[in-house]
Amino acid sequence: MSTQTIKQPSIQRLFLQLLNQKTLQHAYLFEGKAGTGKKDMAMWVTQSLYCPESRDGGACQTCQTCQRIRSHYHPDVIEIEPDGQSIKIGQVRSLKEEFTKSGMESRRKVVIVEDVEKMTIQAANSLLKFLEEPDGEIYLFLLTTAKHRLLDTILSRCQLIHFPQLPKDERLSLLVERGISQEKAALLIHLTSDADQAQELAEREELVQLVQTVWKWFSFMSKKDDQAFVYVHTDLMPLAREKKDQLMVMDLVLILLQDILNCQVSESHIYAFEKYKETIQSEAQRFRPLAIANMMEVILNGKKMLDSNVAAQGIFEDCSLQIVDVIRNKR
Ligand SMILES: [Zn+2]
Repeated sequence: MSTQTIKQPSIQRLFLQLLNQKTLQHAYLFEGKAGTGKKDMAMWVTQSLYCPESRDGGACQTCQTCQRIRSHYHPDVIEIEPDGQSIKIGQVRSLKEEFTKSGMESRRKVVIVEDVEKMTIQAANSLLKFLEEPDGEIYLFLLTTAKHRLLDTILSRCQLIHFPQLPKDERLSLLVERGISQEKAALLIHLTSDADQAQELAEREELVQLVQTVWKWFSFMSKKDDQAFVYVHTDLMPLAREKKDQLMVMDLVLILLQDILNCQVSESHIYAFEKYKETIQSEAQRFRPLAIANMMEVILNGKKMLDSNVAAQGIFEDCSLQIVDVIRNKR
């Protein structure tokens, strides 16, 4: 099994220090967007707590113990994730039972809870009580992307660690490491910050076609060509039948406009539409920043309407007309 690349070296250094000083707290709350490496960090700290081959206090990531933790086969390490919409008290109870069973390997136990904001009050209270149990050594890693939805009882009992969003160039290299082409990866880091979600999108065959179609739609609008309106019906709609694809169309246009805008302010940004870089550069010279901002507003309004279930075709057609209006300098 390969070792994990740790995405947050400064947080890793902090934990290495705590491990070496033996000052690790019993409950941590890892907070940050999807794809910022919260789970990987929780796993690494856990491995470090058990690894018999550790030299500097950190996990070796290759010994049998490290591998068992990584593949979720260590009896003292339990991971909990939502069962449907919530984490229920039953899940915490069965965790307690699991831990009291014989056959445990040590008195040290670790619990990792994903999406902890989905915990019911009863489940949270029951879990926190666990920390007070006198026998043994328990560590809790609670992971969340929505800190504002957490119960006060959880917030007040945990040490908070914020996981910042990784810079675009780092996210790009992570995706390329996963075998995604440079061109696709450059687009995907603009669509999502979550590497797993990016991978899923990369594997969707329609993505390439959707990108080409959106590009062509924008090209018609940019040339003030009335075809843009018809194109919605002939090409865009057949490809974007589902709502998630319709939202993706809007996001792709926004990213494209962002590319043009970035081009005006900096020479060294990562292009989402790398393939069309030259055209984007000439568009950047053509449009005033205000015009681009107005186009973005048209698309953002369209996105809001999609969200409130207005039919997509009408929205796309309307966007076509409005964007051509902006380019004709009428707005
Ligand atoms: Zn190890």
